Amino acid sequence: MKLSQLANPRILDQPVYQPGKPIEQVAFEHKLDPKEICKLASNENPWGASPLSIAAGKAALDQVHLYPEGSGEKLRNAISKKLQLDPAQIILGNGSNEIIELLGHIFLDDGDEVIVGEHAFVVYKLMALLMGATPVIVPMPNLVHDLDEMRKAITDKTKLIFLPSPNNPTGTSNSSDEIIRFVESLPEHVVFCMDEAYAEYLENPPDLRPLMRLGKKIVAMRTFSKIHGLAGLRIGYGYGNKDMIELLQKARQPFNANAIAQSCAIAAINDNSWVDQCRNRNLAGLKQMSEGLKLLNLEYIPSQANFLLVKVGNGKEIFDSLQRLGVITRPMPESLKEYVRISIGTEKENTQALHALTQIIASARAS
Ligand SMILES: *Cc1c(COP(=O)(O)O)cnc(C)c1O
Repeated sequence: MKLSQLANPRILDQPVYQPGKPIEQVAFEHKLDPKEICKLASNENPWGASPLSIAAGKAALDQVHLYPEGSGEKLRNAISKKLQLDPAQIILGNGSNEIIELLGHIFLDDGDEVIVGEHAFVVYKLMALLMGATPVIVPMPNLVHDLDEMRKAITDKTKLIFLPSPNNPTGTSNSSDEIIRFVESLPEHVVFCMDEAYAEYLENPPDLRPLMRLGKKIVAMRTFSKIHGLAGLRIGYGYGNKDMIELLQKARQPFNANAIAQSCAIAAINDNSWVDQCRNRNLAGLKQMSEGLKLLNLEYIPSQANFLLVKVGNGKEIFDSLQRLGVITRPMPESLKEYVRISIGTEKENTQALHALTQIIASARAS
């Protein structure tokens, strides 16, 4: 008997998430010096984590033989102070991706529907398929989530609606007013899942807490992987009303958030000045990249986050050419095949990316 015959049949067709390539691998494949490679592929923070956060992580190593605090009480307290919520309204995840998975475990059954935007972060769709649910894909004209159409896509079978704002890979967001009106209009039987992975890059992120207090069924998710610079540690969280978080806790592994990550995250969330610095540096980087792209006559989607979706023509080809020059970006799926996504790096990395693009365009014109 073949092993695959033993597997749950729907797993056999399950698409697998394709992460950005690590520097070492690209260095090996293209015979490049790793020091000359810049990775602008996964929207990481190019300035790294707060020095206070790194110090906290080093100190936590001394206690690494002990299991972490199971529900992450100290970190949940720190987050709750920041967001003015009760700690019982917060659940930690092994990255906010785990919160997406917990939503699936708790709410989805065969045949349930999950509404997602056409160019939304791909993990929602992968999770829905894994759970045996049906992703309902709503078109995104102008690459922005169309909330009216998402509202119209709701059926009796709809369980979850995902909205990332700003969205990855488009960098587009919906206004606070629009999001709030949308959530107010949702029927009782759907849970609104707001992915706030890039919320810290917005000047005024939408505030869903008043709607939570009114009893709307909402889970918001945030991560320490992006502006806080802790992607390697895998730590994120969800927040919502107590009854919602209590449900999600039932699907969580006992020690899902590791001890080092918890310590680093506490220091990170309390270091406002590092977050402010990174936000400002990212704005300068966005400006540098946009101006450089304009000089190259390359269109891009105006971004509210720490990356740009750039229209390059043949996305796969330009991705390959950039990679050969030591600039790792992210190729896009078929539906966005004219684009590559480029994360904002340090000034030097942005310059390297722009130089590489200039070179590629020049040699394309010459041939
Ligand atoms: C990066 C990202 C996340 C965060 O993932 P982690 O698991 O916390 O690293 C979540 N949602 C979106 C849209 C993202 O781009």
